[in-house]
Amino acid sequence: MRKKIINISLILLLTISMIVPTSVFAEDVTFGQFQDDLAKAQKELEKNQQSINNSQNQINADNATIRNLKSEIEAMGVETSELQQQIANSNISIAERKQQTKDIVSYYQMSQGENVYLEYVFGGESITDLVYRLSIVEQITEYNEKVMDELENLIKANEQRKQELAEKEKEYENKINSLNAEIGRLTNSVSKLGELSPSLETEVKTKKELVESYKAQGCKNRSDVIGKDCAVGSSNGQFSRPIKTGYITSFIGYRWGSLHRGLDMGSSLGRNTPLYSIGYGKITSIWKDGAGANNVNVEYKGRDGKYYTAIYAHLSRYGNIYKGMDVTPNTILGYMGDTGYVTGVHLHLELWPCRLYVDKECKTWNLYVDFVRKKYNEGFKGAESVINFPNRTYQTWYTK
Ligand SMILES: [Zn+2]
Repeated sequence: MRKKIINISLILLLTISMIVPTSVFAEDVTFGQFQDDLAKAQKELEKNQQSINNSQNQINADNATIRNLKSEIEAMGVETSELQQQIANSNISIAERKQQTKDIVSYYQMSQGENVYLEYVFGGESITDLVYRLSIVEQITEYNEKVMDELENLIKANEQRKQELAEKEKEYENKINSLNAEIGRLTNSVSKLGELSPSLETEVKTKKELVESYKAQGCKNRSDVIGKDCAVGSSNGQFSRPIKTGYITSFIGYRWGSLHRGLDMGSSLGRNTPLYSIGYGKITSIWKDGAGANNVNVEYKGRDGKYYTAIYAHLSRYGNIYKGMDVTPNTILGYMGDTGYVTGVHLHLELWPCRLYVDKECKTWNLYVDFVRKKYNEGFKGAESVINFPNRTYQTWYTK
C-alpha cells in the first residue's frame, strides 16, 4: 500500500513537472542526460557526415566564386578606365584635326582668290608660271580634300567607338550589378554557414571534452545535476569589459535579416590588444569555426545564479590557456584579430544565459541561435545587458 502511494505520487510529480515547466526543471541537466546527449549527437554525426562534407564543399565553392567575381570586377574596372582614356585621346585628336582643317581651309580660300589671275594679267607673268601656280593650288586642294576625308573618317570612327564604349559601359554596369547581387547572396550564404558556425564534429568534440571536464569536477553519478551537485561555477557574478581600452564598432541587433548576437569592439592596439576574461569562469572550449576563426568559450555564473556562455571570436592568437582552465578577470585569453569571416580586426563577444551544448535550450548550435533570438526579442541584450559599455559606437573607454 505504501509502495503504491509512493508510485502514485511519483507519477503525479512527473506529470506536474511535464505540464508546469518551472525554471528548476527546465534548467537542470544531469550528468546522465548529458552523456545520453553526447551519444545521440555522435550517432547524428555519423549519419550527417556526408551532408557536412557537402555544405563544407559548398562554402569552399562559394568562396572560390567570390574570389573569381572580385578579380573579374577588378579587370572590368581596368578596361573601363582604359576605354575612357581612349575616348579622351580621340577627342583631343578630333580637336587637333578640326584646327588643322580650319587652317587649311582658310589657306585654300585665300589661294582661291582672284589674285592669281590678277597677278597674271597685271604682273606680266608667263603662261608657264600661271599653269605652275594653278597646279600648286590644285595640289593643295587635293591634299585638303584628302585630309578632310581622313578627318571625317576619324570622326566617324570616334563616334562609333564612343557608341561602342557607351554600350560596353552599359553592359559592364549590368554585369557589375548582377555580380554585386551574386556576391551579396553568396556572402550572405557563406556568412550564415560560416560565421561562428561550428560543425557538428566540433559540437561532439566539445561535448566529449565536457564529459571529461565534468568528471574532473566531481560528476560521477548519472543523477548528479551539473552545476549543482558537481562542476559548480566559481564566478562571483561580476562582469567587466574584456579590453582595457577600446570602443564599440557594432552593437547587438538585426543586420541583413539575421541577428548579430555579439558586441563588436575595436582598439587602437589592433592585433596586440589583450583580451581579458570578463570575470571568474572556466574555459569550456577553444575552437575554430567553419571560416577559420579562432574562438574561446568561457562559462560564467551570473549574479542571477544562471550560467552564461561567453564566446570570444576572431582571435589573432591565443593566450596561455587550455580547456578546463579556471580564469580570472586578469587572464589573457588571447589577442584581438580578424580570423574567420570578418572585415577587420575586432573582438566579437557573445554572452547569453545558457551553457552551450549542455543546457536543453542550447544543447546544439542551432538551438543556441534560436535561444539567443528568443532572448533578444524578449528584451535581453546579451553582453550589452550585463557589462557596462558606452552606448554610442566609437566612444572610447580606458579601463576594464
Ligand atoms: Zn560581431
